[in-house]
Amino acid sequence: MEDRTAEDKTASLTILRTAGLVEPDFFQAVADVVRRYNLTVYLSTTQNIRLLEVRENDRDAIMKELAARGARFKGQVKFPLAKTCVSRPHCKLGKFDTFALAHRIDAHFHGWEKIKPKIKIAISGCTAACSGPMTTDIGIVGTPVGLDIYVGGKLGANPKVGRRIVRRADEDRVIAVIEELVTYHYSQPGKKLRMFKLINNEDFPYPEPV
Ligand code: SF4
Repeated sequence: MEDRTAEDKTASLTILRTAGLVEPDFFQAVADVVRRYNLTVYLSTTQNIRLLEVRENDRDAIMKELAARGARFKGQVKFPLAKTCVSRPHCKLGKFDTFALAHRIDAHFHGWEKIKPKIKIAISGCTAACSGPMTTDIGIVGTPVGLDIYVGGKLGANPKVGRRIVRRADEDRVIAVIEELVTYHYSQPGKKLRMFKLINNEDFPYPEPV
């Protein structure tokens, strides 16, 4: 087997993007880095940009260069970024602006420290649920009369559909409910917990589907 020196060792580096959006200048900056360092780009299912085959010796320089263009990297941001569908105005079925809500959530929870791993958030503009909100820990779904909130969904080997806990919410209520749910999650014992393990607790704040 071929020996790898420290110089040859590679790993991935994930650049976080709110709602999967990439502005042209940033796109160009990433493309420049990819060409120069001969990397592979993988667009992840969580709507981030993952650079593959980053050599250990190049990692710091790449991070520094992209951070100067506004990049945030996996591991630097504790609060999960919401996965979103495109919705209004890019999809005619969309009932609200999913990108705007994803940015609001990102801004509201910026620097939020009281969160444990394993929570995911998904936002869809309508009940077609293209971003999988019903199978995510916390899911937001647009309807003609407001936003529905689901909790406890998951994919994986044993997928589960979440419990609908709130109907017809506005965005302020969505933020408040997310805060309540992550605070509850944080208060529970255990390091890595999916929400589905908590929703049948006696003190879970939303015991019944609505
Ligand atoms: S969930 Fe609805 S609004 Fe969002 S992309 Fe799918 S069909 Fe369009």
